[in-house]
Amino acid sequence: MTMSDTIEKVKCLIIGSGPAGYTAAIYAARANMFPVLYQGTQPGGQLTTTNEVENYPGYKDGVSGTVMMMEFQEQAKRFGTDIRDGWVTKVDFSGDVHKVWVNESKEIHCETVIISTGASAKYLGLPSEQKYLQLGGGVSACAVCDGFFYRNQEVVIVGAGDSACEEAHYLSKLCTKVTMLVRRDEFRASKIMQSRVRNTKNIEILYNTDTVEVLGDGQVVTGVKVKNNVSGAVTEIPATGFFVAIGHKPNTDIFKNILDLDETGYIINIPGTSKTNIEGVFVSGDAADHVYRQAVTAAGTGCMAALDAERYLAAKEAEVEA
Ligand code: NDP
Repeated sequence: MTMSDTIEKVKCLIIGSGPAGYTAAIYAARANMFPVLYQGTQPGGQLTTTNEVENYPGYKDGVSGTVMMMEFQEQAKRFGTDIRDGWVTKVDFSGDVHKVWVNESKEIHCETVIISTGASAKYLGLPSEQKYLQLGGGVSACAVCDGFFYRNQEVVIVGAGDSACEEAHYLSKLCTKVTMLVRRDEFRASKIMQSRVRNTKNIEILYNTDTVEVLGDGQVVTGVKVKNNVSGAVTEIPATGFFVAIGHKPNTDIFKNILDLDETGYIINIPGTSKTNIEGVFVSGDAADHVYRQAVTAAGTGCMAALDAERYLAAKEAEVEA
């Protein structure tokens, strides 16, 4: 067997299977780009960790994140997307042909690559937090997604950055009380975001406070045990929801030193497009977005990436014919 027998050639390779990846696939397939989509280790992406999605237009009664992603997948398949299990472990975008390796072995040569690898919310890592997260019993890393389920209830949120402030403020409009746990004696967030939470009556800020345990009845969260890391005092706060807002990590490690990334690892796109600094490589969804991070915005940029890829291929073909 020669080298060229083992290398697969693909017109449009999509990496990632969240709303961005599947939407890119739907558009690319309908444009005859014969997309191949690798699902990664978490088929369906971050949405499969939320319970109910109620803010995606078209699902008027809400839908579970997992079911929604299965429907996206079916729609992508319907138009011929080749959906595969596998984890992209290495890329080389230095030549005319973009090289991608799957599971460290299979080599694919791509005319275009659409990156939709998403981001992962960071969690504290406490066993009790993970337990109620898995159970869908009151732990969430997305106030905009899940806040509505806690209306007229008391919740706790951990974090002191802009996201935590924004989410605490969002929750304060739905919940009777929001307790914010800040691990140091100051916020990291911008002054304006800090003053917004400070000036909100039903947000209580506890500084120098660490989370010891998420309390529950075995099914759902009932409170949070916290410790003041200066005085050592341990207290319990009643709450039905525990929100974690300590940052996200974009899943972009394999693109380090290959694509332009910002200081936290998000891929930098050319504003108003899905283009990266490498021709023929496009980005969509949370891998390039630390601001909006919504399923519907990810889907929108997935559409942009497929259209940009299609135009790139058309321009290349026109060059060859000229
Ligand atoms: P950040 O990294 O800015 O903040 C993370 C926060 O979580 C920090 O306050 C950090 O505490 C805290 N934290 C981290 N680990 C733990 C832990 N184990 N226990 C307790 N607390 C912890 O992340 P964000 O998601 O808030 O923001 C990411 C980027 O997006 C920032 O650049 C931000 O400015 C931007 N952003 C802007 C918005 C806006 O302008 N509207 C809205 C949202 C985000 P510590 O400070 O002690 O390290």
